[in-house]
Amino acid sequence: MPRRALITGISGQDGSYLAELLLAEGVEVHGVLREGADRGTDRLDGVRDAATFHTGDLLERGTLRRIVAAAVPDEIYHLAAPTFVPASWELLADSVHGIATVTAELIEAVRAEAPGAHTVFATSREIFGPDAPSPQNEDTPCRPSSPYGVAKLAGHQLVGLLRERDGLHLSSAILFNHESPRRDPAFITRKVSAAVAAISLGRQQELVLGNTAAIRDWSAATDIVAALRLMAAAEQPGDYVLASGVGHSVAQLVETAFACAGIEPDGRLRVDPALVRAPELHPVVGDPARAHERLGWRAETSFEALVAQMVEADLAALRRS
Ligand code: NAP
Repeated sequence: MPRRALITGISGQDGSYLAELLLAEGVEVHGVLREGADRGTDRLDGVRDAATFHTGDLLERGTLRRIVAAAVPDEIYHLAAPTFVPASWELLADSVHGIATVTAELIEAVRAEAPGAHTVFATSREIFGPDAPSPQNEDTPCRPSSPYGVAKLAGHQLVGLLRERDGLHLSSAILFNHESPRRDPAFITRKVSAAVAAISLGRQQELVLGNTAAIRDWSAATDIVAALRLMAAAEQPGDYVLASGVGHSVAQLVETAFACAGIEPDGRLRVDPALVRAPELHPVVGDPARAHERLGWRAETSFEALVAQMVEADLAALRRS
């Protein structure tokens, strides 16, 4: 019998790459799609005919229990969440429900329907907050500064608590930024790659950004999902920082993207003071040493290769349109 995996958030960036990886490894993939979700989305092209889909809104109580009982998975990857951090201020209750309560419901579903499943939860470096020392690892103190971060911390702590108390194989992936051509255009990397592609084809005049000095630890989504798979496969559950361990500024991101498109940024980049946020005290960089030591994982894709992939994909999409 092939192993069976259940992915929440299969239509997202990470869910779609993870589904492709698991299918390539001979795993039977089940995914949760929201009612009325766009099944035609390009992200599902590689898995649409090979995966089994279960429909349901995770905000509705009982959805996860029903789907876990139907899929009877050996591995569960809980990736679904409202993911745009700034929106969590406006959609306060939905964000906390969609992240913290839904994580609690998934743990209940695992306990009742699939107690032997190896389960991986996607949490975020937002649990550490803006002033955390750098680089950040699994022992860095948590002081989240957004409702999204607070909810991700609640989920993360529930995972640790129930792992200890009930002996379930629950792991938490503390994810730093990871990107791909499938990243939602609301995020900075995709905003830059899409704008640079449009500028280079003469379809846009300038790229408007906030604080270009901000430093982030960007890795490739394909590398991150490989680590999620290793976490599920590990004999012992645990918490892992998944990051490249290398920081780059937004200015470097912009420079690299323009270089990939073969044009100069001069006169094409404008900093809008209204978009500038207070700088972090320390660079937002992760320390993935534990993942390297215990899982043998490290991010393989270079920053330059990642940015090139994104710019090329946006150029190709614009040329087709
Ligand atoms: P994404 O592309 O935004 O995908 C999120 C997925 O969750 C989508 O498939 C979405 O479905 C689904 N979803 C959201 N609410 C749902 C609901 N109520 N019911 C059913 N499905 C729901 O996110 P991602 O970048 O792949 O991130 C995966 C996970 O990693 C998330 O938990 C995110 O918070 C975490 N994370 C990501 C990063 C990063 O850099 N990418 C960093 C830190 C943490 P629809 O398509 O229907 O909306």
